[in-house]
Amino acid sequence: MIVKDIRPRGFCKGVHFAIEKVKEVLKSNNYPKPIYVLGYIVHNRHVVDELTEMGAITLDDHSMSRMELIEGISEGTIVISAHGTPIDVINKIKEKRLTLVDATCQDVYVTHDLIKSYLNKNYHVVYIGKKNHPETNASLSLGNKVFLIENVEDVNHSHIEEPIFVTNQTTFSIKDIFNIHLALKEKYQDIIITEEICNATRIRQNAIIKSNEDADLCYIVGDTRSNNSKNLAKISRQMTNTRTILIQSVDDINPLDLKDVQLVTVSSGASTPEYLTKEVISYLKTFSNEN
Ligand code: SF4
Repeated sequence: MIVKDIRPRGFCKGVHFAIEKVKEVLKSNNYPKPIYVLGYIVHNRHVVDELTEMGAITLDDHSMSRMELIEGISEGTIVISAHGTPIDVINKIKEKRLTLVDATCQDVYVTHDLIKSYLNKNYHVVYIGKKNHPETNASLSLGNKVFLIENVEDVNHSHIEEPIFVTNQTTFSIKDIFNIHLALKEKYQDIIITEEICNATRIRQNAIIKSNEDADLCYIVGDTRSNNSKNLAKISRQMTNTRTILIQSVDDINPLDLKDVQLVTVSSGASTPEYLTKEVISYLKTFSNEN
């Protein structure tokens, strides 16, 4: 069996920035304690566990909104995750006089700036994204004329006043967004479409398309909460027709899945630590004749 390590993969600049920001805040004496992180700093449990060991408290409860999570905090520092957070939550943090540290990725803010500028020009905004994802919630919070579209069916059922400006979640699938844009162009006339998939997402998705040509199996190492990891797996299945398994670590590999596999490829999400992917590759190489 041959093991192919797909590149580029793993941490992007936004994830790196957010993690380093939390570490910097934890080490510094300039930030009031406790140090809270609002939601997973990036969508990977191993990263969150490491920061917890260093002293960070991650506020994350599926039954509570970010606003409700903040309500219970009376002192300390709040770090905003790489995905951003709704504007009313930011205002609440300021109102409560908590120290705010913003680790939102700059690529997310590029989309926010576009949304705000078109709202100011009286456009209705279509935001293509995943419902309830923190990045989506942050973008939808920018105005009541921002509408969420998740798929082509949503376009078919939509009734949005023109003129329309279209943008999207940075980690969306390049294939899905292409189809949604086609449907939007067919349905609406006065429409401006920008495609805001971030460069890190695009080059990771394209690398999989190029590398999977003869693969029998593809592993994507990433958290099940990670939108970009799930979309890498989706792209692999949809665009390269390769059997693809999303795993969180080497522990999730079932050796039975490797039966009759000649070529296995490995990639990882933008929030997956490098050591997890290296462990997967090392393990797979024990089945190979190239080690
Ligand atoms: S995946 Fe893209 S938008 Fe998200 S943190 Fe990385 S660079 Fe930023």
